[in-house]
Amino acid sequence: MTDIESLFRLQELDMECLALETALKELPVQKEIDESMERLSMLRERLNNANQELDGVRKEQKQGEWQIKDVTDTLTSISRKLYGGEVTNPREIENMRYRLDTLETAKNRLEENVIELMERAEALESEIARLDSEITQKEAQLAGLEDERDSEVASISGKLSDIKQDRERLRAQIPEPVLKRYDQLLRDRSGPVVVPIRGRICGGCHVELPSSIVILAKPNNSLVRCENCGRILCWLE
Ligand SMILES: [Zn+2]
Repeated sequence: MTDIESLFRLQELDMECLALETALKELPVQKEIDESMERLSMLRERLNNANQELDGVRKEQKQGEWQIKDVTDTLTSISRKLYGGEVTNPREIENMRYRLDTLETAKNRLEENVIELMERAEALESEIARLDSEITQKEAQLAGLEDERDSEVASISGKLSDIKQDRERLRAQIPEPVLKRYDQLLRDRSGPVVVPIRGRICGGCHVELPSSIVILAKPNNSLVRCENCGRILCWLE
């Protein structure tokens, strides 16, 4: 291989490296992982909120039950006095009956409230169970995606490291000034910088090359550049 042919091959390896590096950065499975993690964190937040709400509801329910017990105790004690014959004053009896009515109404309201709280707690418990099972399922799915990602990364990284070795071996065979030119051109422009001559046309800018340039380039022995675009020309048989 002449230096120019080596340079042409080097460019192929550089482009393969670039493609693999881009593939590593833009793995489709990584996007799925990101989405799955986002969904999981949303589910965990919802689970946390539901658990907190359930704690609150249960506390409220406990308080309601205590209140019902207090009211019931008071009702019992008033009833005992009222029907036990202790009280004889009609005015007092009327007052006590009125209190019993009021307490009974309060007790009913408290009981209704406790029932509502129990229903809310039941609904929250089933939501928590549903979220728990969805989270478990999503976690397993995420673990699978991460395994898939890791093996893709390992496979691409393996190929990349092989190509980089080939590239270093090739670079070691190319004279320093030629490499310098090539590296400089790579920095200055995107896309290929060593281009084949097709017919008499520059493979980079597609301008027709003067015969003198084609003749110079044809043996691939010297570094000839297109006068129009500055790319290094490579003659391919
Ligand atoms: Zn050109």
